Amino acid sequence: MRLCRYDNNRFGLVEGDNVIDVTAALAALPAQSYPFPRTDLLIENIDSLRTALEDAGKTGARKKLADVKLLSPIANPGKVVAAPVNYKKHLEEARADAGIHHQQQVGEIQKVGLFLKATSSIIGCGEEILIRHDDRRNDHEIELAVVIGKTADRVSREDALNYVAGYCIGLDMTIRGPEERSLRKSLDTFTVLGPWFVSADEIGDPAGLDLELTVDGEPRQKANTRDLVLDVPTLISWASSFYTLHPGDVILSGTPEGVGPVLPGNTIRATIAKVGTMDVKVGHI
Ligand code: MN
Repeated sequence: MRLCRYDNNRFGLVEGDNVIDVTAALAALPAQSYPFPRTDLLIENIDSLRTALEDAGKTGARKKLADVKLLSPIANPGKVVAAPVNYKKHLEEARADAGIHHQQQVGEIQKVGLFLKATSSIIGCGEEILIRHDDRRNDHEIELAVVIGKTADRVSREDALNYVAGYCIGLDMTIRGPEERSLRKSLDTFTVLGPWFVSADEIGDPAGLDLELTVDGEPRQKANTRDLVLDVPTLISWASSFYTLHPGDVILSGTPEGVGPVLPGNTIRATIAKVGTMDVKVGHI
């Protein structure tokens, strides 16, 4: 199942070049009142809602995907966990390029751990990445984004994939510089999730997915998730050993080599096998 959020918070199933409006099926979600839980209600209930979504897809209004504005498919993630330097060749390029490392020692992921991005930085691919510090290097990072489907607290590596609801493409936009990652990577619009959510059954094993990123057609990043230093099950197990993962939480699994700057006016095209392709414009605040 491929599920997107679009236009004025419509929800749709993606079929080929079309989006089918299934918003009505979300009426079956349980009612909530303040204080709201820090989970994504739709992802938490995605399994029980699946039949209703598929039924709604038989009769829902169709639009061309090209004619809608895609928002982040995950509307309310409680947290975005991210893996730094999780491809060996990216570690090597980060250590070799002063524009990336800024005279800081770039440690291996096993030593530096994971970091968090502010959820307020999330946009969908139909929105624009907005540069607000022209004087800084603003880089693209393509990453496989893992969406947690069930509450995961200290889960084993062997059991970890049972906690995944699905996947999307993530862009972990980054200002290079000496500050903490949480500052440099949490600007508004600096976490792009899209183009849609793909349920885990369509992906199977998340190892072995090709990923590729171009800027205005110029090849920048091209790799495969088999080259992750810590694979997806290890990331989930490791993250959940520190904090409970909740439905809708997103894990950005790390970016491969080839990171580089973008400027207002650029268009980023990001592709991950079995997930899809998204074009994201870069603008200026
Ligand atoms: Mn990253």
